[in-house]
Amino acid sequence: MAPNASFRVRRGPVRLRHTAPATTLAAQAVFNEIDPMTHFSALSLLKNAVSGNRKWERQWPDAAPKKAYDVIIVGAGGHGLGAAYYLAKEHGITNVAVIEKGWLGGGNTGRNTTIIRSNYLYDESSRLFDHALDLWDGLSQELNYNVMFSPRGCLMLAHNVHDVQSFQRHVHANRLNGVDNRWLTPRQAKAFCPPLNISPDARYPVMGAALQQRAGTARHDAVAWGYARAAAARGVDIIQNCPVTAIRRGADGAVEGVETGKGFIRADKVGVSAAGHTSVVMDTAQVRLPLESYPLQALVSEPIKPVFPCVVMSNAVHAYLSQSDKGELVIGSGTDQYTSYSQRGGLPLIEHTLAAICEVFPIFNRMRMLRKWGGTVDVTPDRSAIVGKTPVKHLYVNCGWGTGGFKATPGAAHTFAWTIARDDPHPINAPFTIERFATGRLIDEAAAAAVAH
Ligand SMILES: Cc1cc2nc3c(=O)[nH]c(=O)nc-3n(C[C@H](O)[C@H](O)[C@H](O)COP(=O)(O)OP(=O)(O)OC[C@H]3O[C@@H](n4cnc5c(N)ncnc54)[C@H](O)[C@@H]3O)c2cc1C
Repeated sequence: MAPNASFRVRRGPVRLRHTAPATTLAAQAVFNEIDPMTHFSALSLLKNAVSGNRKWERQWPDAAPKKAYDVIIVGAGGHGLGAAYYLAKEHGITNVAVIEKGWLGGGNTGRNTTIIRSNYLYDESSRLFDHALDLWDGLSQELNYNVMFSPRGCLMLAHNVHDVQSFQRHVHANRLNGVDNRWLTPRQAKAFCPPLNISPDARYPVMGAALQQRAGTARHDAVAWGYARAAAARGVDIIQNCPVTAIRRGADGAVEGVETGKGFIRADKVGVSAAGHTSVVMDTAQVRLPLESYPLQALVSEPIKPVFPCVVMSNAVHAYLSQSDKGELVIGSGTDQYTSYSQRGGLPLIEHTLAAICEVFPIFNRMRMLRKWGGTVDVTPDRSAIVGKTPVKHLYVNCGWGTGGFKATPGAAHTFAWTIARDDPHPINAPFTIERFATGRLIDEAAAAAVAH
């Protein structure tokens, strides 16, 4: 690990939670000795508050690229930073760079509506997302960084007979997989979320809801920052404002490194976690992926007092809603109907979403919207991700999360790091191959739920 003067030696113990080799007591002891992160505690918050919050130290250095690395990760979103962190922590690979064309967390990680849940239909998906949910549970303690994970429960509203049948099928399938999900009547749903309109005369009548109690939200920026800080403390270089312009392959076809805005950087292995731009990056290595990139929008209202206790999703009207700690309603809609790399979307789409929200929650009729934005999401034909090896030796990809990859961040990063370190998929991400689009072993969450948020 590179020594860095701007980091203080930490004092308190850091709890390691995973079942990988690093979780032994000996590894814990060594880690506690060398971990240079600022330790956040009530006392440090108080001390810094008294000094006007001017004495906080820089949380990670802005690294200049070295000539060569064991592993380069393209993209400093939550997935890329998380993979770098787990490579260092669980596999002892610290000669790693995360290369980002813009600023850390400035992609979809910092633009999403932060819904976290794991009640997907298929065994493969629920296993992956539930693995992520297990990691979300202790992530703040693990990173010693408050990612504000709030398991406040997520209601998925059923507005028609098809929704009822489909969500009840999800509830049964989830229970068989040990995944928390249960069916609520309209009155039970209203008791859980009082602003809900359950009048049978409503334009979108609520015929019931599936509730995952463990589901919730987290603070998106903090996830990127927490992973960045913890990865940098273990020696990972985080290089911002440095676009990867090509992946270079050698005479034997294997990966040699990446061409970047700051020159060529050699690497034994390259992992691509570039979300909406994955197909562009992978194309430079002559790997074609079954991906389409779409704009996806979100918006927030003016802040109000706490009134909305949970997350609510309505797939039928394509609206998603929660209330942030600042008081703003955080609202998401569906993807635009055309492919594009633009990080903004069409107004008609969010007008439709807001009209539906006013029908389902009439108390919000007179609220004003504060701002809207968009991201570029990468969508596969079955709406499930691709996490694993590629036809190119030592080139790996983690993509295709579409509208729903934030919730997967710790689980995807964790299994992606395993795949890169061992050149072999983790049992949890093993089904999420590129080959499934040729063999037909799809994980068709799109058909199961109509959306994959
Ligand atoms: C509006 C919106 C709402 C969403 N809501 C939810 C939700 O509620 N729940 C949920 O689970 N998911 C949601 N998602 C999806 C979720 O945000 C993404 O699936 C997830 O954040 C992807 O994380 P990532 O780290 O892979 O990608 P990103 O955070 O996008 O990181 C990829 C990084 O790669 C960088 N990059 C790209 N090309 C290059 C290059 N050539 N060189 C170097 N760097 C490059 C980008 O700048 C970017 O920072 C939403 C997405 C959007 C846009």
